[in-house]
Amino acid sequence: MKYLYLLGYPLEHSISPAMQNAALRQRKIRATRYVKNPLPPDKLREMILALRAPHCLGANVTVPYKQTIMPHLDELTDLAREIGAVNTVLKRADAHGKLIGDNTDAYGFLQALWVRRIRPQNVCAAILGAGGAAAAAAYALAEQGAREIILLNRTLARSIELADRLNQRFPQVALALNDWDALERMHLIINATSVGMVPHADESPLPPKYLVPRRAVVFDLVYNPPVTKFSRDALARGARVIGGLEMLVYQGARAFELWTGQRAPVEVMREAARKALQEMTRAQSSSSRRRVGRG
Ligand code: NAP
Repeated sequence: MKYLYLLGYPLEHSISPAMQNAALRQRKIRATRYVKNPLPPDKLREMILALRAPHCLGANVTVPYKQTIMPHLDELTDLAREIGAVNTVLKRADAHGKLIGDNTDAYGFLQALWVRRIRPQNVCAAILGAGGAAAAAAYALAEQGAREIILLNRTLARSIELADRLNQRFPQVALALNDWDALERMHLIINATSVGMVPHADESPLPPKYLVPRRAVVFDLVYNPPVTKFSRDALARGARVIGGLEMLVYQGARAFELWTGQRAPVEVMREAARKALQEMTRAQSSSSRRRVGRG
């Protein structure tokens, strides 16, 4: 049996195994399984050993390892280096199992826009957050010809670092930091923070005094819950909303294609992901009802 790993910590809430194993079954890749390999933050060495083992074909990498894994890999793609984060590791069979760090989040983000016929050319976008997902979204938008990007992040130093990298690579894009008042003229507003994720589903990354413009497209990268408070508030304003599940499916589809060399069965992956998320949401709400009952 060969394995594809999901490396990160904690991983209880990941739906990637359901999605990737459905794709492996659909493509009749029988002797390979996609499995969670939860390793606490001090276990980076064990993680690299797991990747180098002969039965490992590759991996997805998630929080907290997306940046810290980078110096331990043999090569990085230009995309991963420029974004500054790795979410997919490929193993080069023709090069003694060399480990290559890649990033499929930018592709997943763009594909989720394209399937809705949203073209990033000339767009003015606000990105809430400045971590790995924000960097992937910013890179993808800038590379596709966005006109202006505003980074809105709690920790200013992190936005400055991301803005410096973007500015060097895309000097033509107008960049601004923490200009919340500019929200009202943005076409696209992206939540790339973890605010609003379960168990804090009643929180929004948008400070209460700001509203999303009615004509904006709002893209919340959070996928659990499927409809966040930020998305609900934007819908109530009349904005168009995209949920994080779409990006999850497309970044996973791209990783599947890189690992297996086969076309990803996107519909099968979307259905498996949706079902796994539904089951998880049901389990979460019954456990919170039990807690309330006890309280
Ligand atoms: P990350 O690198 O750890 O970045 C987290 C970001 O959230 C940082 O900007 C952080 O701000 C901000 N943040 C966290 N808690 C906050 C709070 N209480 N108030 C304000 N800001 C807060 O994580 P990531 O990999 O970029 O992931 C970010 C989100 O995107 C997560 O929800 C993740 O699930 C989602 N995501 C979705 C997909 C998908 O396929 N749909 C793919 C990747 C990521 P500071 O810099 O101030 O700490």
